[in-house]
Amino acid sequence: MSLESFFNPASVAIVGASRRPGKVGREILVNIVRGGYPGKIFPINPGVDSIDGLKCYPDLTSIGEVPELVLIIVPAETVADVMRQCARIGSKSVVIITAGFKEVGAAGSQLEQEVLRIAHGAGIRVIGPNCLGIIDTVHKLNASFAGDLPGTGAIGYVSQSGALLAAILDMANAVGIGFSTLVSIGNKADMDELDIMQYLADCPETKVIAGYLENISDGNQFVREAEIISHAKPVLLMKSGATGAGARAASSHTGSLAGSETAYECVFERAGIIRCNSIKTQFDFAQAFATQPLPEGDSVVVITNAGGPGIMAADAIESQGLTFAKLSEETVQKLAAKLPAAANVNNPVDVLGDALAERYELALEIVMADKNVSAILVLLTPQAMTEVAATAEAIVKEAKNHNKPVFACFLGAEKVEPGLKVLRRGQIPQYDSPESAVAAIKAMSDYHRWRHRPKRVVKLYPVNRRKVENIVERHLRLGIREIGEVESKEIIEAYGFVTPKGSIATTAEQAANIARQLGFPVVLKIWSPDIIHKSDVGGVRVGLKSAQEVMDAFDLMMFRVPKKMPEADILGVLVQEMCTEGKEVILGMHRDPHFGPMMMFGMGGIMVEVLKDVAFYLAPLTAVEAKQMLVNTRTYKMLTGVRGQAGVDIDAIAEALQRLSQLVTEFPQILEMDINPFMVGPEGTTPIAVDARISVEKVGQTK
Ligand code: ADP
Ligand code: MG
Repeated sequence: MSLESFFNPASVAIVGASRRPGKVGREILVNIVRGGYPGKIFPINPGVDSIDGLKCYPDLTSIGEVPELVLIIVPAETVADVMRQCARIGSKSVVIITAGFKEVGAAGSQLEQEVLRIAHGAGIRVIGPNCLGIIDTVHKLNASFAGDLPGTGAIGYVSQSGALLAAILDMANAVGIGFSTLVSIGNKADMDELDIMQYLADCPETKVIAGYLENISDGNQFVREAEIISHAKPVLLMKSGATGAGARAASSHTGSLAGSETAYECVFERAGIIRCNSIKTQFDFAQAFATQPLPEGDSVVVITNAGGPGIMAADAIESQGLTFAKLSEETVQKLAAKLPAAANVNNPVDVLGDALAERYELALEIVMADKNVSAILVLLTPQAMTEVAATAEAIVKEAKNHNKPVFACFLGAEKVEPGLKVLRRGQIPQYDSPESAVAAIKAMSDYHRWRHRPKRVVKLYPVNRRKVENIVERHLRLGIREIGEVESKEIIEAYGFVTPKGSIATTAEQAANIARQLGFPVVLKIWSPDIIHKSDVGGVRVGLKSAQEVMDAFDLMMFRVPKKMPEADILGVLVQEMCTEGKEVILGMHRDPHFGPMMMFGMGGIMVEVLKDVAFYLAPLTAVEAKQMLVNTRTYKMLTGVRGQAGVDIDAIAEALQRLSQLVTEFPQILEMDINPFMVGPEGTTPIAVDARISVEKVGQTK
């Protein structure tokens, strides 16, 4: 259904409109009238005949026509009644401003369900309850008590916090930022962030979608659809509040490293959503996206009338991962011909402290033409001769004449204000520091790259699904949630992993015999379904070089471990061939209750929780994403080889991650897993999954 009726209604009824100043029912009516709403307005209040000269009706049924949009501001207990009236007369779009529903506890929750049931039964769509209302500047509808109707602009805003929306409006007015639409979604009883984002994606006046969210209503749907939305328009989101939903007691390394925010980060990354950590950053970015074309690369040129800020900008460009543009020979020559001899004609182009507007304009004109330049940052400090406003005019003019993004940073306060006014009017984004300007350029350049990313192709490996199904189902039938090392390894073997050879011994002699067959050195590991982290309880001995060492180690382990873990059921000891080569990494998965499986890669071994050098990514993984996970860790440099050390087989790790991603995608029963360590040697060698553990849980439906 189109949401046109909410944002461009022919008529609006305000149920609970009031004459008394200070009441919400009063404020909203005033805002609608003062905002210049051109449609029909029907105040509803049984106690009065008219408000501000507008005829007042006792209830919705007595209007005699069907209001396209209904705003409800009456007390919570009576909202269901009003909703019944909406159903009776056939109004299909309702905004419930009233609070006192789900947010106040069980009774409110019940009330909300009742209202929703009536709405759904009649095909009515609802925004709210417990919200500040909606604003549409294009159609001059200010159906809110957030403040005055803001200026028109290209930003569509959706907020889960009404109060924050009021603050945003106030701030935006101060810096001259305009909006197309603003929506306070409140409790999201019916319509949620995704509905509004979809509307904004289709809304021709909206160029940038921005929002503030505390949670996401439907994780799976969001993952699927947000990617499509951000492909159409940039999405800038602030997200706060750990919900705790993801904070399930975790027994795996991966689980304990996946904080509750990890899933959101993964989802945002996959969907190309640009995360903002403050309102200021969000405004900084929104201004850029709303007014400038996307930079087609990541090389930035700086034009400045002061050396210091130029260097600050250069530092920011490098440290934020952009490229400091190298100007072409032709550009340098042209600049040298036009600028004074003392000027710096390389990046950062220094037009000198005495530069008038004209010199800025010349420099701009020349660098605009350079193919090596994808974005231009103009810095200005108000020195004695600086023409602040005229320079701003020159920037506006040059930006208009070319199709390259231009960003301004006028450092100062009162003296630069006239310039800022010109820039605002001329749609040039301006920043209070070189760093924040560079951050906005970076966000745009990243978004451009994301938009042009290769199509996602998930490779499917031939595997033995049946084998995994048998092991998983047997554990679930017996009510066992932790699959031990031996069977976990059988599972990953079925998906193409190689594990060390070995078998279980129940006596020291048997252990020595197995070791002889495997060849020395060997590793002994305690074998118990109740022990998850074996080395924590003295249950791992590596590098055993003889039968005698094996027998001694066996006896010691069988003596010590039961002392540490008296309740554990110990079935024997695993005698395993020892991998002597390679680096230890960890591969893992944590299934987020809302967003599904998240893959993890990191530096492995027992230090993984201490180093926390891990990367997460949403499954299923493509080859590109698997590789990117590796690149995203600090470990990566070490893996590719440093200081003469040979690197390891990067592609083999990426393939292992993809195989694992296939496993957890095909088996939703797998809740968490670790392969730690995964030993990888140089290119061409086979990596070995030395240790594995998997936990499972029943799911409603097995795929
Ligand atoms: P846990 O993680 O339960 O403590 P692991 O099987 O991972 O037990 O063993 C702990 C550590 O011992 C590993 O991180 C690895 O360094 C070493 N290790 C274990 N098995 C082997 C093996 N077969 N070859 C080489 N090193 C091993
Ligand atoms: Mg381990």
